Amino acid sequence: MSVATRISAVRERIAAATEAAGRAPDDVTIVGVSKTHPPEMLEAALDAELVDLGENRTDEWDAKRRALADPRVRWHFVGRVQTRAAADLVGHDVLIHSVDRRRLVDRLERLCASDGTQQRVLVQVNVGDDPAKGGCALDEVDDLVAYAVDKPHLSVEGVMTVPPLPPSHTDPNAAARPHFARLAEVADRLDLPERSMGMSADLEAAVAEGATMVRVGTAIFGPRDDGPWQHPAPTRQGARRG
Ligand SMILES: *Cc1c(COP(=O)(O)O)cnc(C)c1O
Repeated sequence: MSVATRISAVRERIAAATEAAGRAPDDVTIVGVSKTHPPEMLEAALDAELVDLGENRTDEWDAKRRALADPRVRWHFVGRVQTRAAADLVGHDVLIHSVDRRRLVDRLERLCASDGTQQRVLVQVNVGDDPAKGGCALDEVDDLVAYAVDKPHLSVEGVMTVPPLPPSHTDPNAAARPHFARLAEVADRLDLPERSMGMSADLEAAVAEGATMVRVGTAIFGPRDDGPWQHPAPTRQGARRG
């Protein structure tokens, strides 16, 4: 199945879910999570007018950004940010979905101050208290958001979560929905507009609970079985721009 066909199917799911929730389809941005997939597939998404693309590793993102060099893309970074890798993100007009600790806030603020840029971020919350998932604890989020909002070079636009993996043979939408409701409560309480929640298997529940961004990988790009995409070595001298 082509990327374009899969994107149409995801758009239909969003249309049905927003209609059921009494929302407009345009209220939900589909972020295509393209990790592990080659730049040609990202280009296919852009050609189908899906321009929000997300990656979860700075090295892989950097290689694809250079390989694509396409002004249509609106980049999102959805993976864990190592403090020392923060410098790879700043200055590239990317929305970071995964700010989860003060140390990272401090690091981003310092980098942006010296770069003279503003960094858009979401604060990731581990609403399911799952040790396998990133994000600050629910009882830390008010403090962390206040701390980040205070930084002149950071713009805190909202919150993000990845719910725990549901047990097999359970309905992923039903399992995720209470977690999404919890994230929506946080966003409401802190008056933050963006709610990044919902993936391929549970985007309906996310839309029902007020997601403004869903991060969809498998349902758009297919299964991930090849490991991270690596920039191939240049085949001819001077064939690539650095
Ligand atoms: C990979 C990934 C996704 C997409 O997951 P799918 O189940 O393939 O849709 C969403 N969010 C984050 C943070 C991811 O790492």
